[in-house]
Amino acid sequence: MQDMFRFADAYGPAKIIHIYRPKLGLKAILVVDNVAAGPSIGGVRMAPDVSVEECFRLARAMTWKNAAAGLPHGGGKSVIFADPHMDEAAKENLIRAFAVAIGEVTDYIAGPDMGTNEQCMGWVRDEIGRAVGLPAVIGGIPLDEIGATGFGVAAATEVAAPFAGVQLDGARVVVQGFGAVGTHSARFLAEKGAILVAASDSRGTVSDPDGLDIEALIALKQSGGHLTDFCAGEKGDTDAVLDVPCDIWIPAARPDVVRADNVGRLNCKLVPQGANIPFTKEAESILHERGVVVIPDFVANAGGVICASVEYHGGNERSAFDVIDIRIRNNTRLVMEEMRDDAITPRAAALNLARRRVEAAMTTRRWG
Ligand code: NAD
Repeated sequence: MQDMFRFADAYGPAKIIHIYRPKLGLKAILVVDNVAAGPSIGGVRMAPDVSVEECFRLARAMTWKNAAAGLPHGGGKSVIFADPHMDEAAKENLIRAFAVAIGEVTDYIAGPDMGTNEQCMGWVRDEIGRAVGLPAVIGGIPLDEIGATGFGVAAATEVAAPFAGVQLDGARVVVQGFGAVGTHSARFLAEKGAILVAASDSRGTVSDPDGLDIEALIALKQSGGHLTDFCAGEKGDTDAVLDVPCDIWIPAARPDVVRADNVGRLNCKLVPQGANIPFTKEAESILHERGVVVIPDFVANAGGVICASVEYHGGNERSAFDVIDIRIRNNTRLVMEEMRDDAITPRAAALNLARRRVEAAMTTRRWG
């Protein structure tokens, strides 16, 4: 009994649902965390190796992210345990079955995440009438295509840069995980004068202190290539990205990639967290003591979910960019100022902001 409720605290999770459909081989888990502000929004991740605890932590991160962004939504997350690279028809079957299974869980609105995309959300919407991050052809704002999250990461970086002693024009940027978030973060930061000096994917790292051609790297990835196939730059293994000196180091791959045992390899001033929970608590404390400013995930990478919320409430691409810009700049500034004025970590400042908003929403609800 106690073990089943091992994650329970003052905020949630409201429910944890295990889904199993033996005929299809569908195994999934859904965590709906806190819904005081409104129905939860959170990604559907397809991966073979995510624990219930990781799913809960991701759902909680969505609670804080949605609250910190000031959205009328709580936080949730789901995982379908499967290989995201499976055959397309099999994937469609699995996602449609998952959608039907969560049909009655109306306080959860599915969105895209690692291993799923707009097309997958189209299948979910087709089955149960609700999902965000839809294909444009059925009224969605294709957030990965337009780079909503990367746009927000770049906005947060610009506001936080002076607090970290970084000048954006000419700043050297490293991106770990050159996917949807990583590529667009690099692209929008380059528009502000920053230079990409290294990037990594699951196969390896490419680096060049004089700068890499971002558009050429994006074209390489879009054609199915790996960064280590790039025609220029020095090549290294996946973890070599940790060792590249820079001003801004952007994690945009997976959780817990930087820990106490490898944080000493980072040589940077500012870390806008593009991925969800990419660093352990210990790693963030060590960086704080070293004077490195970390913009917490749920502040820096809220662009995607803000875009999803704008879409859910009937907005368009232009209004999404406007809302992302205003909210992320405002929230990042509040967090940086509280960090400086109260001498606390940026995560503590951001959590204070989010908690204040969730607690205010909970006072309006009968059951919390
Ligand atoms: P993606 O699948 O498009 O890209 C992930 C990239 O990371 C790929 O290039 C992959 O090769 C690389 N990768 C995987 N393991 C790696 C490793 N160990 N080292 C280096 N690279 C590695 O995914 P995405 O949508 O860009 O999401 C990345 C992260 O950002 C995830 O944690 C996701 O939850 C989070 N996130 C995404 C969004 C969004 O809008 N897409 C929004 C908020 C948060």
